Amino acid sequence: MANAAGAAVTVFMRGDTALREFHQPFVKQVMADMTKRGVAFVPNADISALTKKKDGIAIHYGAQQEETVDWVLDAIGRIPNADKIGLEAAGVEYTKHGIVVDDHLRTNIPNIYASGDVLAKDQPKLTPTATFESYYLFHLLSGQTTDPINYPAIPTTVYTSPRIAKVGVTPEAAANGNYKLVHNHIPDDWYRQIDEETMGDNILIFDQGHHLVGATEFSEQAEDSINTLLPAVVFHYDQAQMWQLAHIFPSISASAWHKIR
Ligand SMILES: Cc1cc2nc3c(=O)[nH]c(=O)nc-3n(C[C@H](O)[C@H](O)[C@H](O)COP(=O)(O)OP(=O)(O)OC[C@H]3O[C@@H](n4cnc5c(N)ncnc54)[C@H](O)[C@@H]3O)c2cc1C
Repeated sequence: MANAAGAAVTVFMRGDTALREFHQPFVKQVMADMTKRGVAFVPNADISALTKKKDGIAIHYGAQQEETVDWVLDAIGRIPNADKIGLEAAGVEYTKHGIVVDDHLRTNIPNIYASGDVLAKDQPKLTPTATFESYYLFHLLSGQTTDPINYPAIPTTVYTSPRIAKVGVTPEAAANGNYKLVHNHIPDDWYRQIDEETMGDNILIFDQGHHLVGATEFSEQAEDSINTLLPAVVFHYDQAQMWQLAHIFPSISASAWHKIR
């Protein structure tokens, strides 16, 4: 965004791999495109200090290297804000990963529940997860269910331009299993040509019964493309059910579903 607005942008990376959780061939293409547009990447930056200077903020990194910038956006991760909120006084158990809950989002104190980023959990700490947990608690506490929480496949995206988005089984995980991977080049898709998309790829992952179990894409509309495929992944539609859906035409949904039948 800052680059598109005309700022000189340097990304100081902690290691040599960006966006580890995403399909690396896609990440590399996005980084190459950003590099072409003037974004600089410094792998293994090993930042030791930030100091205020008259003309900005000095970033000290690597072997005594320094770069002075106007703004610093710190995006090195988040930690649960669970200490200093009185959990000890209430006797609620938590670790450095967050509040410990059971499969009904109940803490060790029977009438105290927790949801959202503050939980110690494996699911991605994102808005859709937090919202899903809140809806679950609404149904549980209003007596509409007694079932344990059953997380769906949570989609994730990185809002680069183009974006990278994914849901379900990843190409990396599929490599060790009995799956069929279908690769599509986005600019070959007539609908994306309407939108003048010039780069992008997706990988659709099917089990042996042709149920869509995962999808990952990089493109300008990756998040919408993955969102539209969610029901197929979550509800394990078979091919007959996939054919039963008639989408608005032309649309990203029509284009995405055309590829999975
Ligand atoms: C920079 C950034 C960008 C993000 N972008 C995305 C994105 O694009 N898509 C996405 O899905 N997710 C994104 N996330 C993650 C997303 O914001 C969180 O997963 C989501 O907000 C979690 O919801 P929550 O209700 O658990 O916590 P929060 O939204 O953090 O809400 C917690 C609330 O509790 C309040 N609070 C804290 N301590 C106390 C206290 N002692 N007393 C009273 N109130 C208190 C806080 O002020 C806050 O309002 C982003 C996060 C960050 C930091």
